[in-house]
Amino acid sequence: MPYIEDLSLVGGEASCDWPMTRAVGWLAAGHEFAKDRVPPEALERLRLLHSALNGSGRILVPAITAGLQDCDFCAADGNHHGENMELRVRGRDGAVFLAPAMVVHYIDVHDYCPPAVFVEAILAAERRQT
Ligand SMILES: [Zn+2]
Repeated sequence: MPYIEDLSLVGGEASCDWPMTRAVGWLAAGHEFAKDRVPPEALERLRLLHSALNGSGRILVPAITAGLQDCDFCAADGNHHGENMELRVRGRDGAVFLAPAMVVHYIDVHDYCPPAVFVEAILAAERRQT
């Protein structure tokens, strides 16, 4: 799993349609990440986005991941958890957040706390659709 610092701009061919794309949740072994409680509504919304991906989701940006992603933290414990989808969430001011589908697993199992702007975008997306 390639490490990308949270909120880094993700450039390149794969995201040319999304010029303001920022990375969220690209965690890897050996890199510190924020741990905290995520609002339950945001986690629930992420779970819905995640389940909506099954069968129809975009495969992860090949340039970044080679289409495959395994959880480093589970691997360190001798377990395996792999996913190959990505989530895109539109935030304010045209920003788009690109997260691996694995971000739900990171929050659930490894206490990852994504940046506040990402959590806000998730919650705002829910409000727009209800
Ligand atoms: Zn894991």
